[in-house]
Amino acid sequence: MKLNSPRSIALFLALILACLSIFLVLLFTQSFSAEKIWLLVFAFLLSFGIGFLIIFSLFRRFISKRINVLYRTIHNLKISGQNKIDIDLGEDVFEKVDEDIKDWAQDKIGEIRQLKEQDNFRRDFIGNLAHELKTPLFSIQGYILSLHEGAAEDPKVRSRFIKNAAKNVERMTRIVEDLDTISHFESNRLELEIDRADIVQSARSVIDELEDLAQKKDISLSFNKKYDAELFVMMDEFRISQVIANLVKNSIAYGRKGGSTVIRFHDMNERILVEVADDGPGIEEKHLPRLFERFYRVDASRSRHEGGTGLGLAIVKHIVEAHEQSINARSTVGIGSTFSFTLAKA
Ligand code: ADP
Repeated sequence: MKLNSPRSIALFLALILACLSIFLVLLFTQSFSAEKIWLLVFAFLLSFGIGFLIIFSLFRRFISKRINVLYRTIHNLKISGQNKIDIDLGEDVFEKVDEDIKDWAQDKIGEIRQLKEQDNFRRDFIGNLAHELKTPLFSIQGYILSLHEGAAEDPKVRSRFIKNAAKNVERMTRIVEDLDTISHFESNRLELEIDRADIVQSARSVIDELEDLAQKKDISLSFNKKYDAELFVMMDEFRISQVIANLVKNSIAYGRKGGSTVIRFHDMNERILVEVADDGPGIEEKHLPRLFERFYRVDASRSRHEGGTGLGLAIVKHIVEAHEQSINARSTVGIGSTFSFTLAKA
């Protein structure tokens, strides 16, 4: 008999007790006749049964009390009579408790790691936010002080300072608006209106809208081929246009003068892959995994010069993921960058 469960231990002890009692009876009984054998068997079974019941119930009380306290602690249950945990005393209770505690400890380690990551993330985020807002805020403060101290007297200087201050206010507003959009996505407060719509048409509208901006940098915007037919996908048209516009704007902001940006569509069975590719200076491999993080920039001064908030790609990722699709960036330094995302076919 394997003594690994309270029940088997109770059986074993009851057996020893019964044997012992029979041995004592035999020891103190001088005259023993063969007829009394049934009496002995009866006494054996009785002491075995009673012994088992007493030992087993003592075990049950002792183990249940201890293990219930343990389980209540690890499962965070309220200590009340109703929350009794069912313990099978026929199995190896201690091994099971050991395993459950190991699982619980593992879960807690995971939770602590996640909390630490979140804490680091929050700290970085607040630091970045303070830094992003500090720059325009100090500029505005500088312009106001200069105007107050006499710069306002010269109409030309006054107008330039006011224009610059207004530009910085605009920049701060953009950051706050972008953060507001991200926080709406993160708290699931932003409801998408996903419908059947033509992605070629949306991309064409974005190209038309950004044509002037591209021309200023001598960058051409085009499709890789003529898309005569519609390509229907399931999307929130406004938001996906925002995604394409953001990627195209980035290709203009960080592309090379005289370069080109090409939009392509690939048929992937259930999905359509949308690609926005430029032939700009490209992005080093080490930056690619962090590109979609809030405030992550490859070249911060260039981004600020271009009026970027460092939040564009974070918003783009949120929009694509809210469609339950994915986005990816690949790039080769000196050749160009390609941003691609998928959409479900309709
Ligand atoms: P930003 O407001 O700074 O443009 P984004 O989140 O849109 O913020 O982009 C993050 C960073 O990724 C940019 O600052 C830029 O360094 C880099 N980046 C984005 N798109 C491109 C591109 N097409 N080519 C090169 N670098 C890019």
